[in-house]
Amino acid sequence: MAIPLVDLKAQFAALREEIMPAIAGALESMQLFLGPNVRALEEEFAAYCGVPFAIGVGSGTDALHLALRAAGVGPGDEVITVPWTFIATVEAIVYTGATPVFVDIEPRTYCLDVEALRRAITPRTKAVIPVHVYGHSCDMAPIMALARQHDLFVLEDAAQAHGATYGGDSVGILGHAAAFSFYMSKNLGAYGEAGMITTEDEELAARVRMLRNHGDVGRHEHAIIGYNARLDEVQAAILRVKLRHLPEWVRLRQQHAAAYNERLADLPVTTPYVADWAEHSFYLYTIRVPDRERVIAALKEREIACALHYQRPQHKQPACAPYVTDPSAFPECDQASGEILCLPMYPELTEDQIGEVCKAVGRALS
Ligand SMILES: *Cc1c(COP(=O)(O)O)cnc(C)c1O
Repeated sequence: MAIPLVDLKAQFAALREEIMPAIAGALESMQLFLGPNVRALEEEFAAYCGVPFAIGVGSGTDALHLALRAAGVGPGDEVITVPWTFIATVEAIVYTGATPVFVDIEPRTYCLDVEALRRAITPRTKAVIPVHVYGHSCDMAPIMALARQHDLFVLEDAAQAHGATYGGDSVGILGHAAAFSFYMSKNLGAYGEAGMITTEDEELAARVRMLRNHGDVGRHEHAIIGYNARLDEVQAAILRVKLRHLPEWVRLRQQHAAAYNERLADLPVTTPYVADWAEHSFYLYTIRVPDRERVIAALKEREIACALHYQRPQHKQPACAPYVTDPSAFPECDQASGEILCLPMYPELTEDQIGEVCKAVGRALS
């Protein structure tokens, strides 16, 4: 039985009766932008995160970019982040004209190393983007303490972390703003491009609203040069349906992770670490295997999908070369990139499928 990394067809089959009328409703109204579905989704997603403001935008990349722009990040500024992320985090920084500065990760959580952050702060540092990678929150308290000390804007990259918590609080409320992606494979995924910014800062929220819609302030007046970065009504209608299922999906992901942990316990692999203060939302279930090639081959033989996020972290990407002064400065990223292996993870995964995957891993390592 072939097992995909993510099974969006199974999810759609289960949701068809709810999704199709929602799409039809948006189309019948022919109000396709900045209408009732976007407004309702913004309110519902804000409530889900426990944050006062949420602003729908065109993608997770737009969310990162517009949040930085709204915070005044621009040329001459440095923005600190990790190489252990998708390139969009870096792109958003470069789009503003600021310079990305990379720091290494903490090896158990794969999140930004707070001591490395402390060392990387300079008088030009304007912002920091901690990435809640795989669905595990960064250790935000010391990051926010450093931010207060050095007057930094903290933007959570929560693109992989819908449903994750830190000390009981949802991601999205931990920094000054947060960026979420609704790319199709994410914990909450649209059927096109979509993203969201959350914040407690009313002025920042207002600037983002202006930026996403060509600087428009109504009555055909454009106050600033903005972007075409709107979230559309059809995607918002789909996301509103899916958001109602998100808490249950996160619970299932956690249940599947526990099942994996149990079945992999006796094998020479490292299962995902979860810090005391974190509730992991398992966008990806990532193990470490020193002898990875044998496991990959065994999975392939059984038609079981796997992925390597990140086989090539950003400090090794040609596009990021201008921002890497010392390629050897990221030993934890380098070590992890040779060992990590993401196994199938999605709410519809069955116990039998988890058993199949673990059997294949076990056979490869025995
Ligand atoms: C998916 C992702 C993004 C970008 O989101 P898009 O919606 O694809 O633009 C940004 N950061 C991280 C960490 C991601 O995983």
